[in-house]
Amino acid sequence: MKLTIIGCSGSFPGPDSPASCYLLEAEGFRMLLDFGNGSLGALQRHIGLYDVDAICLSHLHADHCLDLCPYHVVRTYSPRGPLPRLPVHAPADAPRRLAAAYGMPKEPGLETAFDFVRLSPGVFEVGPFQVTAAPVNHPVETYGFRVSHGGRSIAYSADTGESAELVKLASGADLFLCEASFVEGPAQPADLHLTGRQAAEHAAAADAGTLVLTHLVPWNSTEQVLEEASRGGFAGRIELARSGAHYDLEG
Ligand SMILES: [Zn+2]
Ligand SMILES: [Zn+2]
Repeated sequence: MKLTIIGCSGSFPGPDSPASCYLLEAEGFRMLLDFGNGSLGALQRHIGLYDVDAICLSHLHADHCLDLCPYHVVRTYSPRGPLPRLPVHAPADAPRRLAAAYGMPKEPGLETAFDFVRLSPGVFEVGPFQVTAAPVNHPVETYGFRVSHGGRSIAYSADTGESAELVKLASGADLFLCEASFVEGPAQPADLHLTGRQAAEHAAAADAGTLVLTHLVPWNSTEQVLEEASRGGFAGRIELARSGAHYDLEG
């Protein structure tokens, strides 16, 4: 399977990246993990506007889901529209929340374009992918994902504070996309986000392959995030996520 990082900017878009969005491709099937603000634009550098086959939303903070609203316009009103309804695996409140964001009545909301499937912890199939969703530690209902195909796996933390569930989810994953929103300081709130060091500690506990630090917040120094991660006891390779980066995981 192939991973393309569309957006990796934490909490809001930055000058060089939209908010969270990751494209996974295998056997001609294209799935997005998260669809944060700005990502619909950058996505078109990599695939056609109509080429998305499924979407998984980790949680309903704007920086992870909001571009579903403009994508409703694409699927409904483009010269090729209306297109078939697209499966969107998302927390329970997604239909109501996204309809409100768009300014639509709850019925039909965005459901003419999207087939919302309620997420719950467990394993499900999306096209050729096996997806595991696990609850992580964030103030709203939030799922980390593990996506497997052809014997290879990618784990994605979503937004989370320290989480034993995340270590399980990422156990032995070839590539671990882990958020590193915070830099170390005296006043970081608990149960919200991770520092680079904590991301590396989770990767070490999970015995993951490559650690890719993501959800990088523009007001932080990426050098500092990377330096802190180097002190997390993880022996594998550590990289910073970058919009446009590709990773090929051969099956
Ligand atoms: Zn976020
Ligand atoms: Zn969040």
